Amino acid sequence: MKERIRYYSTNLKAPEVSFREALMKGIAPDGGLYMPRFIPSLSPEELMGYRGQDYPGMAFSFLYKFLKTEIESDVLNSLCRDAYNFDIPLEPAGERSYILRLDQGPTASFKDFAARMMARLMNHFIAGENRHYTILTATSGDTGSAVASAFHGLSNINVIILFPLGEVSDTQRKQMTTLHGNVRVIGIRGKFDDCQRIVKKAFLDKSLSDLNLTSANSINIGRLLPQSVYYIYAWSRTGLLPVVFSVPSGNYGNLMGGIIAREAGLPVRKFIIATNENNEVPEYLRTGSYSIIVPSRNCISSAMNVGHPSNLARIVALYGGSMNEHGTILKSPDLERMRRDFHGVSVTDDTTRETIASCHRDHGVLLEPHGAVAWKGLEHYLAKAGPEEKNGTVYISLETAHPAKFPGEIERILSFTPPGHPSLENLEKLEEHYTRMDNDYGSFTQYVFKHC
Ligand SMILES: *Cc1c(COP(=O)(O)O)cnc(C)c1O
Repeated sequence: MKERIRYYSTNLKAPEVSFREALMKGIAPDGGLYMPRFIPSLSPEELMGYRGQDYPGMAFSFLYKFLKTEIESDVLNSLCRDAYNFDIPLEPAGERSYILRLDQGPTASFKDFAARMMARLMNHFIAGENRHYTILTATSGDTGSAVASAFHGLSNINVIILFPLGEVSDTQRKQMTTLHGNVRVIGIRGKFDDCQRIVKKAFLDKSLSDLNLTSANSINIGRLLPQSVYYIYAWSRTGLLPVVFSVPSGNYGNLMGGIIAREAGLPVRKFIIATNENNEVPEYLRTGSYSIIVPSRNCISSAMNVGHPSNLARIVALYGGSMNEHGTILKSPDLERMRRDFHGVSVTDDTTRETIASCHRDHGVLLEPHGAVAWKGLEHYLAKAGPEEKNGTVYISLETAHPAKFPGEIERILSFTPPGHPSLENLEKLEEHYTRMDNDYGSFTQYVFKHC
């Protein structure tokens, strides 16, 4: 049976589209986010079958459930083999607890999982067209490098990345600015939210329509589906028991991947929503009223400095509610059910640092700030959970970046230099190229007309 999955907009004011259109558009014309009309379910046999598959095989069989009407199976299979050619370690850290290391990809953050698959899918879908596309993305660090690396060298896709000058680390900047070719990088004199504003405005700007702009931010459904796979992978490798995942969250794309896996049938007991001091979602769960944080708070887990997560609208939609892009709740979701499914924890920078030290001391596992926020969230949950919740459960905490991206912080806390990551080693020798720009939409369009 080949039933075509359609994608609706969370604002409910745009027509439903195919996966390909949702992927190429990024954001729906009504400003909403695309969601699958239904989520295919995995039978118990299919789930058990994952045990014997390697990661690319698993990615193929999961994604094919969504894409079987959109792409031939052997093509998808080879895209998955090509995208997932790196390790995904699971490090034991205490009783029935593991740390899933998503930090071994070519740019050393978990964003590689999504960006590499999305780039390959886009490239496949537009192969026969004779027009160019432009990926426009705002980054607080890791998205930019993962997207730049994933799309670098493609002939009919250009990439423009906006980052806030002074708010990404030198390493993160160099990961984007040393690629050249079809990757253009602009440093904005402003904050991440300013970059995001320029990007959003550009998408609605008719004068830029020749560029065929599309988004590689986690508003793109093409980034979420690939992120479901590592949840299934971790479950299949840790005893096939019901599982609690702790997810370090900023824009909630990672968590959405997990939720989609659960909706498909993965036995997830709970998701721990672990945030830094940008605690708008844990507070929402606690109080039932949602307030965005502007400007977002600067924490050492900088990729999670988000005061209004774009994927929250998707979560609210899945729980029967509706939220617009400004964060106004138009229809309340089932908060009771959300509270059963999610445990929200906000972690301060001081506690994050202490957790890097204690996890290394107690379990011999080296975390960086994002992974430490998740691990602390899990500890917080375990201290509160009752025996009936703990029985026969496995705990998996996600590590989303490689410690080598934070050498200064790790050295101050642990007094040694974290081991390197191959993609970061040669950056010093490469030539950087990027444009500095005022936080001003007019300067941005001028640049685009001149260079693209
Ligand atoms: C992007 C990012 C996050 C946050 O992920 P979301 O999907 O935005 O919630 C966490 N950790 C690292 C290292 C990241 O790069």
